[in-house]
Amino acid sequence: SRYFIINDFPQGTPERELFELQEAELSDLAEGEVRIRNTWLSVDPYMRGRMSGVKTYIDPFVIGEPLEGAAVGEVIESRDSRLAVGDKVRHMAGWRDIAQLAGDQAEPLPSIDVPEQAYLGVLGMPGMTAWTGLNRIAEMRDGDNVLVSAASGAVGSLAVQLAKAKGGTVVGIAGASEKLEWLESHGIKAVSYRDRDTQQLTEALKAACPEGFDVYYENVGGVCLEAALNTLRTGGRIAVCGMIAHYNAEQPAPGPSNLAMLLIQRLRMQGFIIFDHWADYGRFLEEVGPRVAKGEIDYAETVEEGLERTPDAFLALFEGANTGKMLVRL
Ligand code: NDP
Repeated sequence: SRYFIINDFPQGTPERELFELQEAELSDLAEGEVRIRNTWLSVDPYMRGRMSGVKTYIDPFVIGEPLEGAAVGEVIESRDSRLAVGDKVRHMAGWRDIAQLAGDQAEPLPSIDVPEQAYLGVLGMPGMTAWTGLNRIAEMRDGDNVLVSAASGAVGSLAVQLAKAKGGTVVGIAGASEKLEWLESHGIKAVSYRDRDTQQLTEALKAACPEGFDVYYENVGGVCLEAALNTLRTGGRIAVCGMIAHYNAEQPAPGPSNLAMLLIQRLRMQGFIIFDHWADYGRFLEEVGPRVAKGEIDYAETVEEGLERTPDAFLALFEGANTGKMLVRL
């Protein structure tokens, strides 16, 4: 098996040299184990947190040990009666080509008619996160005006479409022009945060949605959060999903200068971690899965080819190089 390790806990933006490709001979399968040939690897922003050496809601990666992450693959050997050779599964032993693990750690892919890698994106953890954040955390209602940051990414690109289907004005914040175009082609008003300070972004958002927002789906932090606070209506709700602008910061950033807007506008701001909501994954699939299969909900992917490119794919998330889900195809 070939797999990636990190050789240190990075400060600031990780360097490519942090990641080393290693090779190890796998032992024979023990009773209950399966061997999987990974076909798709997921790279996700939360992995940066696992590289900090500190336990948060999840353990840090161990220096020198194989990195972990969501992956899809095919069973190539099985000593678990529930899984047969050829079965397609999802599991957490990513960042490697061949995975070997207890069979109960590998979950057969659901049977909705979508490409298998969709279970790492729109119908996987990021999709479930978008659905939960909007419906359960922000309690989005029909006709709500909704603002989403990192709006053309894995989570954001589903969030904007789910919000749009509820009938209000939906505005997405993103960086590069092709991402703004992707949003606009899906009926979403798109605003770039590039080269804009809080005041300028606030004005651009007000121009896109003069009545103000009922919901802000927060993926970024920093200037996006400050501008959002300036444009929420009385009683607005903020679902704090992520704050990617801060993940590589060497010093903690000062809080939003206009946090008083929470008070003035009687806003509610609530963070969430998707693992706490996983019992609802079946309901999410039932509701969103058929809409994806029918093409009513679109999703984009940015694909890097080959195991060697996994760290590059991961690092590119922080450059905004992906439209939709960032994936590695093996
Ligand atoms: P994305 O596919 O959205 O990729 C990350 C995107 O973030 C980039 O493409 C880039 O897009 C944007 N970005 C990166 N750096 C910055 C920056 N400094 N300022 C503004 N935008 C930036 O990733 P995901 O959809 O997987 O994740 C989105 C967010 O959701 C992350 O914050 C992640 O941590 C969070 N998350 C939280 C979960 C939870 O349980 N709470 C679960 C899953 C994800 P752009 O071109 O717009 O700059």
